[in-house]
Amino acid sequence: MANVIAIANQKGGVAKTTTCINLAASLVATRRRVLLIDLDPQGNATTGSGVDKLSLEHSIYDVLTGDCDFSQAIHFSEHGGYQVLPANRDLTAAEVVLLNMDDKEYRLRDALLPVRNNYDYILIDCPPSLSMLTVNALSAADSVIIPMQCEYYALEGLTDLVNSITRIAEALNPELHIEGLLRTMYDPRSSLTREVSEQLKQHFGELLYETTIPRNVRLAEAPSHGMPALVYDKQSRGAQAYLALAAEVARRQRKKSRNAQA
Ligand code: ATP
Ligand code: MG
Repeated sequence: MANVIAIANQKGGVAKTTTCINLAASLVATRRRVLLIDLDPQGNATTGSGVDKLSLEHSIYDVLTGDCDFSQAIHFSEHGGYQVLPANRDLTAAEVVLLNMDDKEYRLRDALLPVRNNYDYILIDCPPSLSMLTVNALSAADSVIIPMQCEYYALEGLTDLVNSITRIAEALNPELHIEGLLRTMYDPRSSLTREVSEQLKQHFGELLYETTIPRNVRLAEAPSHGMPALVYDKQSRGAQAYLALAAEVARRQRKKSRNAQA
């Protein structure tokens, strides 16, 4: 059964999508079966996976509203090697349409039930808001990866996000927990970065990934070619950092299942 991981932070531009695409491709490189779900009307994860968001016959919107089957909307990322449930601007309407539907918080979870066995990992790219779409992601997920930049305001936003995750866990999805916090666009030479990093370690302890993602131009260039950095420039520091993250994510999963068996 797949591990379903939402990549979420209501703050914009913290590398949610970059993490989703590059973690997906890195997990594929270690022979995991991966599905990436784009749950953001911006459709950046769709484009970055090499899927044309403007010519979609069906998208995640149709899956959420029940207008098509999961299999009709699924695409394949040729360069990434993972499957994609794509999104485009149509998804903007979902916020309103979902409000009038039964089980509105569970539309995504229910759509995934029949296919969870087909994957090792399902990664959900969330929009930069705590909207009904994000609620659907957090209701469907087992855990959350929070990408963040080590800057002063990041810590404030983090409290809101952690509170939301706690509320959703209490009300909708008791299994939900934080998988890990990921420091992105990381520059160890900056004293503010080191200071914020230290505070994160104190607050979150082992939840903070040891792996950090450096600022790397290859990570910013790759999506315009519809590729993960691993294919665009395998030796780049960005590509190597996401490979290290995939290894750390898999290590934690193995530890969790060992603990569950004990
Ligand atoms: P949004 O909230 O709009 O969905 P996001 O959190 O998904 O944004 P991304 O789109 O992944 O963030 O990244 C924001 C910008 O920063 C993009 O232009 C991306 O290419 C760039 N970027 C992300 N990570 C890095 C990095 N490690 N080094 C350099 N540029 C990066
Ligand atoms: Mg994004």
